[in-house]
Amino acid sequence: MHEISIAGAIFDAVIDAAGKNNATRVKEIFIEIGELTALNPGQLKFIFETISKGTVAEDAKYDIKVIKPLINCRKCSYNGQIEFFERLHFFLPVIKCPQCGDIDVVLKEGRECCVKKIRID
Ligand SMILES: [Zn+2]
Repeated sequence: MHEISIAGAIFDAVIDAAGKNNATRVKEIFIEIGELTALNPGQLKFIFETISKGTVAEDAKYDIKVIKPLINCRKCSYNGQIEFFERLHFFLPVIKCPQCGDIDVVLKEGRECCVKKIRID
């Protein structure tokens, strides 16, 4: 349930951006979360709907996109998605190259968790 603290941080960023742009209402919020964050989009949405009550973002729509992990293998130079990952620890998944099986890979995408844009009035 680390969704609550992350949702709170995302929501603060939305309210901050809305305030800076003199928004009277936030209509839509676009969020990207990496699959490796293990965040649950449905859970996030529920938390946003709860904490946005009484704010400019009340009744905003949420567009939550889950980003597939993308890696770059240092050994065989494979570039692309991974087929699976073992989650030994919640925040430390073991990522292997699907081509050569090496773990010497660079994670290019899959850990993001951010607000891409918001639509305001
Ligand atoms: Zn490889």
